[in-house]
Amino acid sequence: MDHPTPTLRERIHKDLHSLRPAPNLLDYEARCASFRWEDARRLLDGLPQGGGLNMAHEAVDRHLLHGRGSKTAIRWIGKDGSRRDLDYAQLTAETARFANALRSLGVEAGERVFVLLGRVPELHVAVLGALKACCVVTPLFSAFGPEPIATRAGAADVRVVVTTPELYRRKLRGLRDRLPGLRHVILVGDAPCEGQGLQRWSELVEGASPVFAIPPTDPQSMALLHFTSGTTGRPKGAVHVHEAIVAHVVTGRDALDLHDDDVFWCTADPGWVTGTSYGILAPLVNGVTSVVVEAEFDAEAWYSVLERERVTVWYTAPTAIRMMMKLGAEVLHGHDLSALRFAASVGEPLNPEAVVWGLEAFGRPFHDNWWQTETGGIMIANFAALDVKPGSMGRPLPGIEAAIVRRTAAGGVEVVKTPMTDGELALKAPWPSMMRGYLHEEERYRKCFADGWYLTGDLAKRDEEGYYWFVGRGDDVIKSAGHLIGPFEVESALLEHPAVAEAGVIGKPDPVAGETVKAFVALKPGWDAGEALRRELLGHARTRLGAAVAPKEIDFRTGLPRTRSGKIMRRLLKARELGLPEGDLSTLEEDAA
Ligand code: AMP
Repeated sequence: MDHPTPTLRERIHKDLHSLRPAPNLLDYEARCASFRWEDARRLLDGLPQGGGLNMAHEAVDRHLLHGRGSKTAIRWIGKDGSRRDLDYAQLTAETARFANALRSLGVEAGERVFVLLGRVPELHVAVLGALKACCVVTPLFSAFGPEPIATRAGAADVRVVVTTPELYRRKLRGLRDRLPGLRHVILVGDAPCEGQGLQRWSELVEGASPVFAIPPTDPQSMALLHFTSGTTGRPKGAVHVHEAIVAHVVTGRDALDLHDDDVFWCTADPGWVTGTSYGILAPLVNGVTSVVVEAEFDAEAWYSVLERERVTVWYTAPTAIRMMMKLGAEVLHGHDLSALRFAASVGEPLNPEAVVWGLEAFGRPFHDNWWQTETGGIMIANFAALDVKPGSMGRPLPGIEAAIVRRTAAGGVEVVKTPMTDGELALKAPWPSMMRGYLHEEERYRKCFADGWYLTGDLAKRDEEGYYWFVGRGDDVIKSAGHLIGPFEVESALLEHPAVAEAGVIGKPDPVAGETVKAFVALKPGWDAGEALRRELLGHARTRLGAAVAPKEIDFRTGLPRTRSGKIMRRLLKARELGLPEGDLSTLEEDAA
């Protein structure tokens, strides 16, 4: 007899009794009712001597006290297929060596350490070791060009950079005059390299003592500085404190459903906040094994990693999922992915078809979740024990109160009660991983809050069952392949070229990357708007900004639309590019193009 084809709802419905192991968060409503952050803090140990809370102690050293010393903490897979395992005892020793190395250089608590590396074990060691030494850490995206590095390193007054000889030569050497506070550059790798204050990892770190006593750490002291982009001005340095680790332990358990025996793989680059919070901290603080893959995306290679490493929990992103979808599920045939228990996605809107494709290809739907640099950890999620609603970001984490709000003329907000009504997504402040400031920008930080709510800048709606649906960003910031790109940073780089009089940058919808960066440029008199100059400008932007940030397309215009106060109307550029209604033009300068 023919069986009726199950409906989508039936296919994504979860039978709680058949889920193995049982999800950590079984009863969502009950947990929301009883949750208190003070209780969550008890999942952690605190520092043995002197008190306080240090992220690196919680993520690494404390596991030795719980008998996990010989458990694999990091399984690294190199580009050439080589593997290196570090267990929790080894990671404790390596990170201690790095903390001692910093001390031997005279680097003090609170000083800024930038890590500009690809996905290699030294990256984890440097980030965690610097946290042990109570330094403030910024992992930087290694695909950034010199300009984004200079702005961020300058704003942070960076003292130490950990990088490779090759990245140093290509990206950092030319910036030394602009970074007077940069005293030490620690080089991973043996390639020849000349410069002031250069140290070799192999000499400095490998020779240091593997024992380091973490000094008492104020949970409210700055631990991580994550740069993120806004519509205008320079990138913002979101300040995160050691206490954020409380959110990492909880979200790892509740939103990613990490269990003791899990093999977890987060595909994000540590240069972006997901790669730090979930590529480094959350799996380690939960004591699981974390797979780190050095190579860039390649569907076939990724499936092999999932299969060979028996990955049980996988955290990836919509652009990668869409790239896999394009190749089709056939590529998966022959791969045994039976170990995979939970698949999650973050960073950009996840199309409902991608959720369903997860079910077809992997036998698991992708669980979308939402957060941002400023929130420090996952805030809204499709949880393991709840049915996924394809297209929705899920429900707020227990302990997080979310709402859809409208800003009022008086500077406050009102909560929108009607379901499925667009408004701004807001979160009741505070929570442990909430940013504590934008570095040196008190006013910009203050403007993110109203009536006790943190205003995310994202537009969303909430349905009757409390699921949140992403509508769009409330600003002009571009999300391309999961990376947040500030149009101002791109426009500034274009304006440095002698031919460019005006530049306006938008995100152009793209079926795979979500958006790509497109620039509109008006030239100074005497320059020829031809193919040769277009190519030159594309190359100029790429050299300055790096491939991940630079525009993919440039169009010439005789002038760009501006408001009467002189701001380029990116919204209008975008509407015209996409053939959409031009909206309110009352502020358009009369003679603007
Ligand atoms: P970032 O600070 O770089 O992590 O970027 C955060 C932004 O990415 C958010 O403010 C959203 O605009 C977007 N974002 C993150 N997760 C999602 C999601 N699940 N769905 C839609 N947009 C998302």
